[in-house]
Amino acid sequence: MLYPVHSPQHNLPKPQAEFVFRYAGKLLLEQEFAPDLASYKHCFSKIPTISRKFGYLQCVRCGNQKPSLFGKIPCEKCHTTHFYCRNCIQMGRVMQCESLYVWSGEVPVWQSHESPLSWDGTLTDAQLHASNRIVQAIQQQEKELAVWAVCGSGKTEMLFRGIEAALKLGKRVCIATPRADVVRELQPRFKEAFQTVPVQALYGGSDEKEGSAQLIIATTHQLLRFHKTFDVVIIDEVDAFPFHNDATLPYAVNRAKKDRHTMIYVTATPRQDLRLKMTLRKLPYVFVPVRYHGHPLPVPRLHMSISLKKAIKERQLPNSVLTWIKKRKNPNRQLLIFVPTIALAEELAEKLREGSTLPFQSIVSAHSEDEQRVEKIIQFRNREIQLLITTTILERGVTFPSVDVIVLDAGHMVFDDAALVQIAGRAGRSMDDPTGEVLFVHNGKTNAMVKSIRSIQSMNKRGGFSK
Ligand SMILES: [Zn+2]
Repeated sequence: MLYPVHSPQHNLPKPQAEFVFRYAGKLLLEQEFAPDLASYKHCFSKIPTISRKFGYLQCVRCGNQKPSLFGKIPCEKCHTTHFYCRNCIQMGRVMQCESLYVWSGEVPVWQSHESPLSWDGTLTDAQLHASNRIVQAIQQQEKELAVWAVCGSGKTEMLFRGIEAALKLGKRVCIATPRADVVRELQPRFKEAFQTVPVQALYGGSDEKEGSAQLIIATTHQLLRFHKTFDVVIIDEVDAFPFHNDATLPYAVNRAKKDRHTMIYVTATPRQDLRLKMTLRKLPYVFVPVRYHGHPLPVPRLHMSISLKKAIKERQLPNSVLTWIKKRKNPNRQLLIFVPTIALAEELAEKLREGSTLPFQSIVSAHSEDEQRVEKIIQFRNREIQLLITTTILERGVTFPSVDVIVLDAGHMVFDDAALVQIAGRAGRSMDDPTGEVLFVHNGKTNAMVKSIRSIQSMNKRGGFSK
């Protein structure tokens, strides 16, 4: 995407370095930097927020072209009615009469760090192979690379050397992921690994709003505020909702990268389109079929329950599931139960707390609309909660050391095959407890269940395990 970028006008005040680093590569509404704008307006190009192409409206910020996603309201400033975009309204309302400001001033030179990486852990052979390939792609400015690495293979550690190589070359790096929970999970790990490098995490509700650091971790949504900014963009969990079915997010990512860039797609469960590109050799990739601790992925067991619907209606667990829980191979493990809806998560937790025969002192639910979910996830990790009932928000990106996993109503449409593989991947993640039990409770086998189990078995086979 090309916006007109003016050459700097030398007779006008030159912005301070701090200002250049803060705003270079940004695409903002006036109110997003109003106090600074007065002095340095000449450093920005003004572009319309909503354009009209062949009679159709397009939101320039988010790319939306659906007529149903434009509203019309009276504008106090212009005393007339205006269109606004409803698709990206959570980032601030974009009115037709407003402008977007694109930085067109001085191009900042980011620091070339001598030794940015503080992390001194070791990588397994499989991790090292992927890590070296990532370093190569970044150093040689290859356009694209996919990293297909199974759940629990230690993806984050595999990225460290590549990011180190980028920072040594003075590149600006963004790690983007569709989910805010994953950003929260990654932030402390990157701050720890790159202690001398400014790192900022951007997501709806984050404390760090500025997005001016050399190393940024962000939800893909937040990239709507950037324009030709990053030399390296790493998309973690590229197959996760909503990235794979929301056209806005690829649009944002595409605009946030510089013309010369390296894109790295990281996934444990690539979708059909990515898989096809890899198979047809249209997308170079590196494959990591083993977990970092060298044990196979736990293969889920299918558990048919004819009383499932009745139990769900009564907000109970089927008797056979209660028996299974009590007879687990390792009763010390915590238990994660995934359910399809928020209401079920809450009400099942309440019923089980009230009067169940389960041997758990603390039973809690956590879901996307739960304001305390961040604290609850921390408590679960600290083993202060024994049974956590949750929705697909915890399907990926979060690591608990020792859990068994149940998917209740695994045939529900929210559990597609990628989600089921990811959920199963929550078990057996630590060196101290590398196995775990996974149970899919259903009342009729679905394609998604069968596909997910086949895919886990095939990964294990490729990783050198017999089944
Ligand atoms: Zn929009």
